[in-house]
Amino acid sequence: MSKCKEISKLISDSMEQKLPLKQQLGIWLHLIMCKKCREYRIQMMMVRQVIGKYVNADGTGYKKNRLSGKSRNHIKQLQKEDGKKRGSGQMK
Ligand SMILES: [Zn+2]
Repeated sequence: MSKCKEISKLISDSMEQKLPLKQQLGIWLHLIMCKKCREYRIQMMMVRQVIGKYVNADGTGYKKNRLSGKSRNHIKQLQKEDGKKRGSGQMK
């Protein structure tokens, strides 16, 4: 695994859970040297910010109260279509 691949995986891990100090240091040392990974980290944070507005922190379900009726219907519609494609209304 290349260093950048390793670091980008650690970066996404660090968004899900708290990493051991040694790994955090590893990320930071690499970020100082590597512009690509710095940009990757910024992108990840922006994506998570956007997602975080609509999805619970643990990734389960939508924050219904923060969605407008319109987007809620849109999501329902998408889920319905998805269920049809799979031939079952159940999401797993
Ligand atoms: Zn890198």
